[in-house]
Amino acid sequence: MLNKKSIEDLNVSGKRVLVRCDFNVPMDKDQNITDDRRIRSALPTIEYIIKNGGKIILMSHLGRPKGEVKKEFSLEPVAKRLANLLGKEVMFADDDEVVGESARKAVSEMKDGEIVLLQNTRFRKEEKKNEESFAKDLASLADLFVNDAFGTAHRAHASNVGVTKFLPSAMGYLVKKEMDIMGKAISNPEKPFLAILGGAKVSDKIGVIENLLEKVDSLIIGGGMAYTFYKAKGYDVGTSLLEEDKVDLAKELMQKAENKEVNLLLPVDNVVAKEFKNDSEYETVDSNKIPEDMMGLDIGNGTIELFSNEIENAKTIVWNGPMGVFEMSNFAKGTNAIAKALANSDAITIIGGGDSAAAVEKTGLNDKMTHISTGGGASLELFEGKDLPGIVAIENK
Ligand code: AMP
Repeated sequence: MLNKKSIEDLNVSGKRVLVRCDFNVPMDKDQNITDDRRIRSALPTIEYIIKNGGKIILMSHLGRPKGEVKKEFSLEPVAKRLANLLGKEVMFADDDEVVGESARKAVSEMKDGEIVLLQNTRFRKEEKKNEESFAKDLASLADLFVNDAFGTAHRAHASNVGVTKFLPSAMGYLVKKEMDIMGKAISNPEKPFLAILGGAKVSDKIGVIENLLEKVDSLIIGGGMAYTFYKAKGYDVGTSLLEEDKVDLAKELMQKAENKEVNLLLPVDNVVAKEFKNDSEYETVDSNKIPEDMMGLDIGNGTIELFSNEIENAKTIVWNGPMGVFEMSNFAKGTNAIAKALANSDAITIIGGGDSAAAVEKTGLNDKMTHISTGGGASLELFEGKDLPGIVAIENK
């Protein structure tokens, strides 16, 4: 059980509450927000503090300004969108120093229930280095600290870890929800427990596979990763994505699955093409019959059926990584079919952020999932069994 204070353990009335959010939202080149899910996810915490008469000082990073003031990474569009969503004014403290004179002034003039959003914390190079001076500056604005940024919980930065040294701290509702749902799925899942892993590289997911093999009943491996496993089985993979230096590891992982009696499923057929292009001609072939001049870009219909049956039998499912090159419409079918199978399942379904969350968004099936994480990297580290520094730093109950 997670033994950390949550926002309801704090008395926020009349207090200045510094809230770390993850407002790192995608924007187009004109700085229009293209997906505001992360902003909407922060609303319960903000609304709670308003209702209980606190003053809210919000902070976040956005993109990678690399410790410099770059206006294309300004949080101003976020302040506007947040104000729209809340139906309430959000004062944007457009201060290049983040905590400079103008931000201090804006905060000092706040009344209970009012909201100030600070400028992008990554305009300061001290942020990512978790330098104490910046953490102290941020903390000096407030009486209490609430961490509601799950997306950066796997990083130890000044605005999520450093500040906890100087203020009483607690989790916000989003962080609590993410940790409760994913923590339970990993530590005490309803069985059968199925993990679905896809995406480009085995090397990015070794830790996840190793940790999940200790916990799951079945493990599906799809996407580009699968071809390194094929090679380990002695299949030819043509020009498919292959990590030669991970073939032995793939063999070991398959052996480990066998020893642990985990049902490890690989695709039985693949959609293959000559080139890595959407309009490249394609066909479906069995997994051991990939022609030498073709590459696997998606799972085939036989595999969709096999994986869907496994999904139907599971009670807890975590999914991370697409089944194919879902950015290209001709090779998105497998990923979409898996999203649909998850949507139709009665199991606890958890989508681990990043590309799989984007794929689910595209299919419009968000509401049919138990939980879509707002943190790709952070949820992956949870699946790896690691402690997240942003959570560890929060005060114990
Ligand atoms: P990851 O960030 O490791 O989850 O990988 C996601 C990326 O994997 C996406 O951009 C997909 O296009 C890519 N991907 C999935 N399947 C394949 C495949 N068969 N060949 C090449 N890339 C793939």
